[in-house]
Amino acid sequence: MKILGIESSCDDTSISIIDDKKNIIANDIISQNQIHKNYKGIVPELAARNHVLFIDKILTNILKKNNFKFTDIDLISATVGPGLIGGLLVGLTFAKTLSQVNRIPFVGVNHLEGHALTARLTNSVEYPFLLLLVSGGHSNFYFISEVNKYEFLGGTLDDALGEAFDKVGNILGLSFPGGPQLEIMAKKGNYKNINLPKPLINEKNLDMSFSGLKTAVINIRKKLIENDSICGADIAASFQKSVADILCRKISLAIDVSLKKYDYFENVVVSGGVAANNYLRTKLKKTVELKNKTIFFPPPKLCTDNGAMIAWAGFELYKKGVTTNLNIQAKPRWPLEKIGDRI
Ligand code: AMP
Ligand code: MG
Repeated sequence: MKILGIESSCDDTSISIIDDKKNIIANDIISQNQIHKNYKGIVPELAARNHVLFIDKILTNILKKNNFKFTDIDLISATVGPGLIGGLLVGLTFAKTLSQVNRIPFVGVNHLEGHALTARLTNSVEYPFLLLLVSGGHSNFYFISEVNKYEFLGGTLDDALGEAFDKVGNILGLSFPGGPQLEIMAKKGNYKNINLPKPLINEKNLDMSFSGLKTAVINIRKKLIENDSICGADIAASFQKSVADILCRKISLAIDVSLKKYDYFENVVVSGGVAANNYLRTKLKKTVELKNKTIFFPPPKLCTDNGAMIAWAGFELYKKGVTTNLNIQAKPRWPLEKIGDRI
């Protein structure tokens, strides 16, 4: 089977073709970072307009490059939600039209489900598994029993972690999105020089909070503004260290919670854009292995938004007998654990 996956829920326009043997035949992404960086964040209307400009170019290009026709495609999947409504409408309408005109079955995918299942495309991760999803819009723990069966365990009460990385990056003078550059900057700093809080780290639940950490960075930056470069790197290192300590403590708790609720599980998956961060990957790996569990991360390119994860989730659902009626509406809010309303 060849599966076409379409992702347009935020500012990346991506289309991928994968097959049922887990080969990623194409995974093209046009990022809008250059467009949105002038505004230090994503402007939804601009994002939607640019998806319209890019989406058919990407499709034409990948079909041509791989010598594919529509008769070669067996399944189309696209992100239905959650995300920015304008972008969702572009990708979903595009996918429904292709499905109807070419008479190819369609599966609507939850964006978080795409991130959740990516590690099964790139590694042999068996169900059930504990998931930590850390991205630009979400920072939550889920227990994934099987495809279409997801339980929310806890997560951030305010900012998503990627959002916090980007805001702190902005305070440190990095261009949007600051997350990847903050990781590079932190390598030159010493976390011991700056003391930042670790909100909710000692609470015995899976609540997390990152907005206070961001405010602490603003306050420290104001105080130390005269010593620019050294302090910036120290702040980045300290921010990253606080985040790592919080995530390690909470993932350890999440393993305990999951063991109490479920008889047995072996695997832990960390995905979403922030999971591309090597410092966090190393720290989380150590913590999870100390708890005798196996940790998996998708390769960095498949941690951020991409069409391959949507194609794969669509394929897993299709194998379980799910197809989606073409009258499905885009869903700006669609919690993963409330996926029962999939039609
Ligand atoms: P997503 O929402 O899954 O597309 O992920 C995008 C988010 O991941 C943005 O907030 C990025 O700043 C963040 N991100 C990507 N790479 C890194 C990294 N190496 N370190 C920290 N955050 C990152
Ligand atoms: Mg995402």
